[in-house]
Amino acid sequence: MADALTSSLIHYSLISMLFDTVLYDSSYQKKFHQIVINEFELIRDAALIVLNFVYFHHLCGMELLCMIQFFDALIIGTGAAGLTAALRLPQQWNVAVISKGELQSGSTQWAQGGVAAVLDRLDSVDAHVQDTLTAGAGLCNEEAVRFTVEHSEKAIQWLIEQGVPFTANPEFEHHTQEFPFHLHREGGHSHRRIIHAADATGWAIAETLTNKVRQCKNVTIFEKHTAVDLISTHKLGLSEQRCIGAYILNQTSGEVVTFRAPHVILATGGSAKAYLYTSNPDGTSGDGIAMAWRAGCQVANMEFNQFHPTCLYHPHAKSFLISEAVRGEGGRLLLPNGEPFMHRFDKRLELAPRDIVARAIDHEIKRLGVDHVFLDISHKPADFIKEHFPTIYSRCLKYGIDITQQPIPVVPAAHYTCGGIKTDLAGRTNMANLYAIGECAHTGLHGANRLASNSLLECFVFAMAAVDDILTQNVPKLDLEIPAWDDSQVTDSDEDVVISHNWDEVRRFMWDYVGIVRTNKRLQRALHRVQVLQEEIREYYSNYKVSNDLLELRNLVMVAELIIRSAMERRESRGLNYTLDYPDMLPETKDTVLTPSV
Ligand SMILES: Cc1cc2nc3c(=O)[nH]c(=O)nc-3n(C[C@H](O)[C@H](O)[C@H](O)COP(=O)(O)OP(=O)(O)OC[C@H]3O[C@@H](n4cnc5c(N)ncnc54)[C@H](O)[C@@H]3O)c2cc1C
Repeated sequence: MADALTSSLIHYSLISMLFDTVLYDSSYQKKFHQIVINEFELIRDAALIVLNFVYFHHLCGMELLCMIQFFDALIIGTGAAGLTAALRLPQQWNVAVISKGELQSGSTQWAQGGVAAVLDRLDSVDAHVQDTLTAGAGLCNEEAVRFTVEHSEKAIQWLIEQGVPFTANPEFEHHTQEFPFHLHREGGHSHRRIIHAADATGWAIAETLTNKVRQCKNVTIFEKHTAVDLISTHKLGLSEQRCIGAYILNQTSGEVVTFRAPHVILATGGSAKAYLYTSNPDGTSGDGIAMAWRAGCQVANMEFNQFHPTCLYHPHAKSFLISEAVRGEGGRLLLPNGEPFMHRFDKRLELAPRDIVARAIDHEIKRLGVDHVFLDISHKPADFIKEHFPTIYSRCLKYGIDITQQPIPVVPAAHYTCGGIKTDLAGRTNMANLYAIGECAHTGLHGANRLASNSLLECFVFAMAAVDDILTQNVPKLDLEIPAWDDSQVTDSDEDVVISHNWDEVRRFMWDYVGIVRTNKRLQRALHRVQVLQEEIREYYSNYKVSNDLLELRNLVMVAELIIRSAMERRESRGLNYTLDYPDMLPETKDTVLTPSV
């Protein structure tokens, strides 16, 4: 790129000199001469700008077209997991980080509540482990839970060292408590253990880590680049199964470039966008899970989708979440007539785990035929509310709801993907040199239901573990040519409506048939619909050039199918998988592991 720019500037100077010579050596009369010079100068400048533009883009295009980019490590995704991995890799390594949006376009920056960790002297690893196992409804991998919790303090210490501005603990300043940062308590946690930055923890973390990564000279950042597919040796005809890179779409130029690296980390976040209502940002289309599946990786427990019980219900508020901490600090759920109802569903009332609260709200909404219920914190002092929930307070106020005075209208929405690419405790997938970390991974931590604020913790702990593992690997050099992306047989699409239509359709039937309450019949219907869509998309994909929208749709439909198939395999109600056909929990516990036929 730098060479192209230099050549372009030399080119500009040469043309400029030529024009000047022609202009000033002309034999026109003096008066006429001046007019001509003015006119010519204007034309010359315009022509040079156009020439340079064409020349520069031609060079860049050529460079991209024939280019393979080589790195020591390729990280796809720039949320909490991806950025942590980038910062933990050695500074001598040449690292690429890819984001299909801006650096902060994932879920991380939207996290409000905080990060769960054992930080208080009265808390213990055993208590945190037990709370996680209880929420996970018997399906957590206890080894993964203990591993995560045992590394929680180290992860928080690292974040503090990076400069994350966690909210201070006033009791510490008064010397009555030992830990310098304030800890929230959230539903399902038996102790105060959620370290936070007011109610915008994700933003504070994302901002801090992003700034750090931008300062790293060894890290090249590729924003607006979408990973299309992983490149594996098996797909290139070798018997061994090893990941060696990925095809990446540059959204600006439209070219697909080959990124080659001996270590590839998927950190692409979840797939909650498969549902009509979600708290997640637009890009959570399960790309990493779909790519890993296509490449030959196992996925596990995809039927467990967490629905956050309380998203703001307002026609103009796009997926705004009312944090769990509001219920933790005394917020009460009310019917439209002001009557509380959680006592009819769980003795822990508003502090019951998310799945129970979401199902209770879903039940009441359907029973009464109303659009939403209410969450009320207005009985707390106004100063307390504004200090602890400044973002929620100001966002609601923007929509005309003063939460210090009135209850907040809320509905459930798809929030977190508990399942994902199956990994071990080092983030390793079943494909050599391919790691999956963060929400796209299934480590066994969450089981059948995620305990609030354990997910960010998982991002940090497993990003660190993956990097530690990568540093022990000695990957042999491979002399294997990777074929360049070939789009010579496809054209630009003239029917983008197909993409937007199918995108809407999949999200709606997933909401209606594969949502909070499931049945065999609804799953069958959903499977039929998804198969028809798969066929249409396959045809569309092989005929038209790839675009970010098409890639997301292709992945979303793939992930929808994995969710449906996993839900069909689970013939019981457990944690987040609730089906009217099998309302009971089976005595034995088993993960739903799907293996692709590659
Ligand atoms: C509203 C909200 C509130 C939450 N609150 C909390 C909380 O309080 N505590 C908690 O622990 N958890 C919370 N969570 C969950 C938590 O935020 C996420 O689980 C976590 O941030 C996921 O981080 P990640 O790094 O795995 O992915 P993300 O932060 O989602 O980042 C994914 C990245 O992958 C990139 N990407 C995806 N596909 C591609 C592709 N094909 N090519 C290139 N790049 C790609 C995206 O551009 C993005 O950079 C919340 C989530 C939401 C939505």
